[in-house]
Amino acid sequence: MVKSDELVFLPLGGSGEIGMNFNAYGFGPAHRRQWIVVDCGITFGRESDVPGVDIIMPDIRFLAEQNQTVLGIVATHAHEDHIGAIAPLWPLLKCPIYATPFTARLIEGKLVEAGLSVPVNQVPVGGHLKLGPFAIDFISITHSILEPNLLAIRTPLGVIAHTGDWKIDPEPVLGEATDAAAIQKLGDEGVLALVCDSTNALVPGHSGSEAKVRESLSDLIGTLKGRVAVTAFASNVARLDSIGHAARTHGRKLALVGRSMHKIVAAARDTGYLTDFPQTLDAREAAELPARRVLYLATGSQGEPRAALSRIAEGNHPDVSLGKGDAVIFSSRVIPGNELPIFDLHNKLSALGVEVLTAEDHFVHVSGHPAREELAQMYRWTRPQIAVPVHGELRHMAEHARLAKSLQVPEALVPANGQLYRLAPGPAELIDEVPSGRIHMDGRVMVAEGEGLAKARRAMSYAGLIAVTLVLDEKGRVAAEAAILTEGIPQPVENAVRTAVDESLRRHNPKKSGSEELRETVRRAARRAAQDAWGKKPVTRVTVVEL
Ligand SMILES: [Zn+2]
Ligand SMILES: [Zn+2]
Repeated sequence: MVKSDELVFLPLGGSGEIGMNFNAYGFGPAHRRQWIVVDCGITFGRESDVPGVDIIMPDIRFLAEQNQTVLGIVATHAHEDHIGAIAPLWPLLKCPIYATPFTARLIEGKLVEAGLSVPVNQVPVGGHLKLGPFAIDFISITHSILEPNLLAIRTPLGVIAHTGDWKIDPEPVLGEATDAAAIQKLGDEGVLALVCDSTNALVPGHSGSEAKVRESLSDLIGTLKGRVAVTAFASNVARLDSIGHAARTHGRKLALVGRSMHKIVAAARDTGYLTDFPQTLDAREAAELPARRVLYLATGSQGEPRAALSRIAEGNHPDVSLGKGDAVIFSSRVIPGNELPIFDLHNKLSALGVEVLTAEDHFVHVSGHPAREELAQMYRWTRPQIAVPVHGELRHMAEHARLAKSLQVPEALVPANGQLYRLAPGPAELIDEVPSGRIHMDGRVMVAEGEGLAKARRAMSYAGLIAVTLVLDEKGRVAAEAAILTEGIPQPVENAVRTAVDESLRRHNPKKSGSEELRETVRRAARRAAQDAWGKKPVTRVTVVEL
């Protein structure tokens, strides 16, 4: 260690939002830091914000372009908001990837799909990893997926406890329980900073146990007589196991419906989980069975239009049809922002006569994130010098920081993406802001948010498009009638625009104004006419062809 060494923290995603987690830790003097990246996730675009963009990733050009040394990407767990951007962003970093076996298996699948042959280095559950000045222990914790890890990151300037996503579940059904002893031991050793999940910092009490959901789900399924479909996050393998268990208990055959269900079940089996899961049936075979002998496990709990459940609700799934007497259980929560598609899905199922059962009226789901009592427990275990809330919107992070202060944590930061904090030596301090932002996966092309494509698409989706072509002769006189093409414009508005364009052309005096001025005059006239007739200004493009 040299005197100018510093330990810094830089979030490039996931601070001020739930999704797109990307946290970097740097060590060394400012001019040649060595970095590790903890998690590299995506977030999902909302159609109303970014039409045509499903996937959004962090802008990591600071680490990718400025000759920064990135020693590795370490994944805490396999949720999309933590691993989804590894494959698309790996070519920018080209560094080794580390994860526990189940997570590694899913990352590898994504790399292969992206056409990359990059091995993922497996760290055993409860294992250890050394990357330059960083010595990392993987400590088992509980969440809503297999193999979530708290990372104890030891550096010459102090220990960071990076929780990843977690809860305290004494009975997680599958996988390891929270290794409370190891976390407490870390606290005894002395924790400089606790970088911690803020998702449920506003929720009082405790998140609840997966084992209780298992019982309740089974009881509920036992009361149902027709076909039953349960939808849950495919990645929640313990929940899938519970549903398999309920199927067996009540004499139903289990059929998986949806690509990600098959993918996750295969990954879990390959890495030694789901050993007690029932033999599954092809959905086509299941359709032949009596209604009360079938249990479908389907994707699409968030109302995703292409997922299995939406297709079933629209009556166009090739292998599954539900109707009167059947039931769908939503063993999941409503992710904020997805209310409309989910309620739309409930309505479509209700229209088919299907009974819709949700977490609103039945105990069929628990959160995977810590409520306030669990957060307080984590602070009592680790007793950090600095609280660093991440994985939350600002309101969650600010409340999390207040909670930490109330628990006698001396310092609490509320970081934003792109803010570079020095954690040691000396008191924690914001020392720089680096370029950050969002990259849209737009079809097959990566586009920076700042390029404004989403804004242009929103404008066109709101008020359509008018394209006008003008033809001038060699003396600059109007040589033909204007050609006007429109998309998404009502006929009376189009007529008003045509009249206004014709009027501008009639007034055109080539001695007084050139083609560029005419173009602008026509553009303004067309927009004004649309505004007067319609109250909206379409995107308007004018092309001048000079003979
Ligand atoms: Zn997460
Ligand atoms: Zn997670």
